[in-house]
This record gives sequence, structure tokens and C-alpha cells, in this order.
Amino acid sequence: MPHAESLMYSGDADRDQVLRAAAACPVQAVLVDEDTVLGRPEGPATPHGDTPVGRIVIVGASLTGLRAAATLRREGYRGALTMIGDEPGEPYDRPPLSKQALTGRSATLDTSLPRRIELDAEWMRGVAAVGVDLDHRRVHLADGRAVEYDRLLIATGVRARPWPNPQEAALDGVVVLRTRQDAEDLRRRLAARPRVLVIGGGFTGSEIASVCRELDLRVTLAERGPAPLQGALGKVIGQIAADMQRDHGVDLRCGVTVTALEGDREGRLCRARLSDGSVLDVELAVAALGSVCNVDWLEGSGLAAGPWGVGCDAGCRVFNANGMVRDDVFVAGDVARFPHPVYGYRFLTLEHWGNAVGQARVAAHNMISAPADRQPHLALPVFWSAQFGVNIKAVGVPAFSDEVVIAQGSVAERRFVAVYGHRGRISAAVTFDQAMWLDFYRDLIEKAAPFPPDADMVGRQAEMRPVPAGIAVRAPAIQDATVVVTGDDLEGRRATLLGAHGSGETVR
Ligand SMILES: Cc1cc2nc3c(=O)[nH]c(=O)nc-3n(C[C@H](O)[C@H](O)[C@H](O)COP(=O)(O)OP(=O)(O)OC[C@H]3O[C@@H](n4cnc5c(N)ncnc54)[C@H](O)[C@@H]3O)c2cc1C
Repeated sequence: MPHAESLMYSGDADRDQVLRAAAACPVQAVLVDEDTVLGRPEGPATPHGDTPVGRIVIVGASLTGLRAAATLRREGYRGALTMIGDEPGEPYDRPPLSKQALTGRSATLDTSLPRRIELDAEWMRGVAAVGVDLDHRRVHLADGRAVEYDRLLIATGVRARPWPNPQEAALDGVVVLRTRQDAEDLRRRLAARPRVLVIGGGFTGSEIASVCRELDLRVTLAERGPAPLQGALGKVIGQIAADMQRDHGVDLRCGVTVTALEGDREGRLCRARLSDGSVLDVELAVAALGSVCNVDWLEGSGLAAGPWGVGCDAGCRVFNANGMVRDDVFVAGDVARFPHPVYGYRFLTLEHWGNAVGQARVAAHNMISAPADRQPHLALPVFWSAQFGVNIKAVGVPAFSDEVVIAQGSVAERRFVAVYGHRGRISAAVTFDQAMWLDFYRDLIEKAAPFPPDADMVGRQAEMRPVPAGIAVRAPAIQDATVVVTGDDLEGRRATLLGAHGSGETVR
């Protein structure tokens, strides 16, 4: 399997390294036996805390939900555990869905997540949660049932942002990619060898374009910004990514938008019009436009849930609309918006596999711990992407940077490390086929080491010339949220969210 890493380790000394590598490279080939790595339960046989925890409900039965459930059991929680998920079937891994799973080389698209310990949970599959009643601690389901909880974990993730014109989105050949079903559909369509248009040059769009070229399909990628990946990684890496795409035969069009998708008489996509006046004959258009947080079901609940995700503290406890934490509702994974001390306590929403796993563990631990034993989620963000034969990995938050420098390796060979700085400190590092440097830079970021890096690294550039990172300032995803504060005195003042849902944006 391309880009896969095989990891061998023994003993305590390597534990951290193995866990970090696994978080950075979420492929099925990397099997980390959590019972071995994390140790058998050392916590109390019965959980402690202010309130006895008899019933835990997890809404969202995917990566975050499953990992949280495993932690609860591993740490000794013996009460009732209910998993509510609107998707049918076993929880599965999403990263392969935009990569090797699309090529059709393997006969099956089974990316089911391994269950490494017995969860002893009641599974409610194929049914959505439609509301939560915080006063009575009850989750309401679409089929009319209600489930009571002592502690609730919100792990509902995000969904693909659909193509904005509903008539055009309904054309046969206009698709998105988020679920296993989406991937099955896309894989079948690619097998028919269509002319493809990918709309959006973020990670998902770029990976799909890469698969198209691997399959020797003609593909155009239309990106509104100046370069692919620029939104997440800035202008320097964006240009490198653009060159890489063109070198691999992608018809890359930047600085344009798709203004219309047109169908034939049978309702099949046949044409796309771009803002520069060009017209493309295409049979398949993949809208890779980012995502929408799955928070609709929390509307009116009194929680701080909106287009930005579900707000929480560093211990995953959810804020109510007044910005105060609750002790009985937690959130983790793609839908969580949490403050990170290393980044000026800014609130981050991260759509990263490694973050989902790490935050699920912290949330689950805190759900069954006394206040003094609770832990903060302080892990630095790590993510991973495979495209055009290159393994891209990053640590930290490149978007939180003002400068960048190529610190090691060679851009021409596409084997290098780019280091990002914010106000004279290292804030992130992005590696192209140089993943072995990730831990080194993680340590530097955690130590607030000066930027540019002054260590004597292998392959160090003779002269480091930082340039502006060129990260576009994003409008915070709060523009559609209206909060009103009512009441006159200290006791009576309350915040209420009005019409906050459904239009926020988070970007992988
Ligand atoms: C195509 C693709 C490729 C990716 N590649 C990478 C990669 O290379 N590297 C990387 O770091 N990350 C990658 N990611 C991101 C990674 O997969 C996510 O970070 C991870 O899936 C987050 O897990 P989650 O459980 O928080 O959310 P999700 O996986 O979104 O799961 C949330 C679950 O909750 C369910 N749900 C939603 N609303 C309700 C409701 N009201 N009631 C009940 N259930 C509900 C959803 O249907 C879903 O099953 C990729 C994601 C995608 C889609």
C-alpha cells in the first residue's frame, strides 16, 4: 500500500512516538493495540465524580463515538452505555474514502473501524437524534423514542457542504464525498471513465483529483482561491501544490468559480460553466466545498451550538448559550470547537482524524472523573494527506502563522519541511515525504522555540529566508449567528442564540 508505514515497537519508551505516528497516519495498516499501548485500566473500578454516572449516551457512532466508548470501558466505567448513530452499519474510517478506496483496486470498500475491546453497549443505528432536553437529561430520537442520560457526549461530526443550487445538485453526476455510500457511488462512477470536474481545491478535492489522475482520467479542478490547499497551508505551499497538480496532468483552474452545472434531457450532468467564461463538457462533478457541522439537532437546546460547531472548554465540557460550562454534556471530534492554549486560547474546529481520537479519549476520561482528575485536551493538531504520490503531514496550525520558511530538503524534489512562524515562535510544520521530522517540530512548537528554527538539522537550508505565509484571513464562522442578551441585573441577564444553524463552515 503506498504511503503506509509499518510500525514496530516494544516497551514504554516508544509509546508516545507510536501513538503520535498513528495519529498522524490514520491508515488501517497501522495497528496500535490500545490495550498494550495505553495500559490496562488503572482507574477506579467504579467511576467517581459529583454525581454517580449510571447512564452514558453518545450521539454520533463513528470514529469519535467509538473511541470514546472504548476509553470509558477501558477506564472502568460499568454503567449503561448507549450509542446513537444515524448511519446504518458498523462505524468506519473516512480517510481512505478519498484515497485508495476510490481507485477500485481493492475488491471491497470495507473500512470498518476495528473494535479492540468489548464495549457492552446498546447500539441504536440508523436513527437520528433530533433534540436534547437538558433539564430532564433526555435525548429525543427521530422515531419518537427518548433516551435518558447522566452524561451525554456529542460526537455528531460534520457533513459535506452540498452544491448550493438544489436543481443542479440533483443532476445525475453531481456528487459529494463524506460517507461510505458516497465513496461507493463515486467509485462506481469513476469506473465508467467520465470526464471529471472537481470543485474546490482543499484536501478532499485535491485527493480526488489525484485519484482521477492515478486512474488516468481527464480531470479539471476549479478553485476559487489562487492555489489549491492555500486556505489551510498558505501561499507558498499552495503554489507547490499547484505545480504538483499540473505536473501530474490535472487541468487546474485557479481564481475561478463554477457558475452553473447543466444537464441533458435525461437530467444527466453534461456541462459546467466557469466564471472566466469557459465551458467544460463533463459527466461527473464532485463538489468538495468543505463541510457543515451537524448541530441542527441541538437547535433550541440552550447549548452554544451553531455554524462554528459546539463550543466547549479544553476539558470537552460543553458551553451553554451563556458561555458557561455544563458538567453533564461533553463534545469531541470534528464538531467540537475548543480553545487551544498554544494558539492564544483561540477556539479551533479541527477535522482531523488524530484530533478526533485524542479528544474522544479526553472527553471520555473527563465524563467519569472527579473535577480534580480531569484532563485538558492539549495535543497539538496533526493531520495527514496522500496525493500525487506524496505523503503530506503537518503538525500545529499553519493557519495561525504570519511567516513560513523552507527549513529542510528540496522543493524541486518535493521532499522538504516547511516551518511556519507566528510572532517569532514556531507555530506549525508541514512535511512533504519527510514525516520523520514531525516529532522534532512538535517539540519545538511545544517549547515555543524561536522562528526561524536555529537547530542544526539534517538537510538544513544554508540560508533561511522566511516569507509571508500568505494565509487568507478567514471570516469567523459566526456571521449567521445572532445572540441576544436580555435582562437588566446580574442575576437576570441571559444570552439566547437566534437562527444560528446550518450555514457555518469548517475546513479540513
Ligand atoms: C473523505 C475524507 C477523507 C479524510 N481524510 C483525512 C486524512 O487524510 N487525514 C485526517 O487527519 N483526517 C481525514 N479526514 C477527517 C476524519 O475522517 C474526521 O476527522 C473523522 O471522521 C472525525 O470523526 P467524528 O466521529 O468526529 O465525525 P464523523 O466521522 O463525521 O462522525 C459523526 C457521526 O455522527 C452521525 N450523526 C450526525 N448527526 C447525527 C444525529 N443527529 N444523530 C445521530 N447521529 C448523527 C454522522 O452520520 C456520523 O456517523 C477525512 C474525512 C473525509 C470525509
